[in-house]
Amino acid sequence: MSASPRKDPVAVEAEVREKIHLEILKRTGAYHANDHVLLPSGQHTMEYIEKTLVTTEPSFTEGLGAVIAKHFAPWPIDVVLSTGPGALILSHCVARAHPSRPIVIYGTKGLSGGKRRVTLPVEFQRLVRPGGKVLLVEDLVSTGSTLNLLINLVEQLSAQVVGIGCLWRRTSVELGTRPVFSLVNRDFPTYDPGDCPLCKKGVPLNEEFVRRRHARRPSSVQEPKAP
Ligand SMILES: [Zn+2]
Repeated sequence: MSASPRKDPVAVEAEVREKIHLEILKRTGAYHANDHVLLPSGQHTMEYIEKTLVTTEPSFTEGLGAVIAKHFAPWPIDVVLSTGPGALILSHCVARAHPSRPIVIYGTKGLSGGKRRVTLPVEFQRLVRPGGKVLLVEDLVSTGSTLNLLINLVEQLSAQVVGIGCLWRRTSVELGTRPVFSLVNRDFPTYDPGDCPLCKKGVPLNEEFVRRRHARRPSSVQEPKAP
């Protein structure tokens, strides 16, 4: 087995690494490939990722976090900032492996007047100093809207975004000139049922993910009502 001599060795290495990272995500059960999946939007696709499952295997998350930390190791970092539970777990792993020993803080997501919003708890605000170096960490970047809010938040506090580290980035996402390092860069095409090449080939449609949303409710408990 030998790679074509004309192939750029750096590109080949990046391709191999991406395959390894995809394999790791597949082992968490989060990434489904070579399938024919019905999406909640009604469209069909070949690949699917269940965001909530991405950081469920601590040793995988630690390993992937260390790869992101290694990439940003040459830059001093004071703070690692994220928002959302999955990204927070990953950001802990990145910060733990970074030579600057940055602190870890997180914003909370919410909606205000139908618009997304990220809020930094008051206790964290003094930890982001003017001129401080901040690394943003995200698990999956699909539209980039959360990251853009985090960038605005950092700039509002007069600190500086050193870079953005993530597990998965849809290649179509634009995040300005800030350096983005992603373990996987991949966007999967989605098709209208009428134009779907898998439907045309007669591949059975996997409706499991949509059905699961309708058929199963999240488990929840609550305190009894006051008598
Ligand atoms: Zn189809």
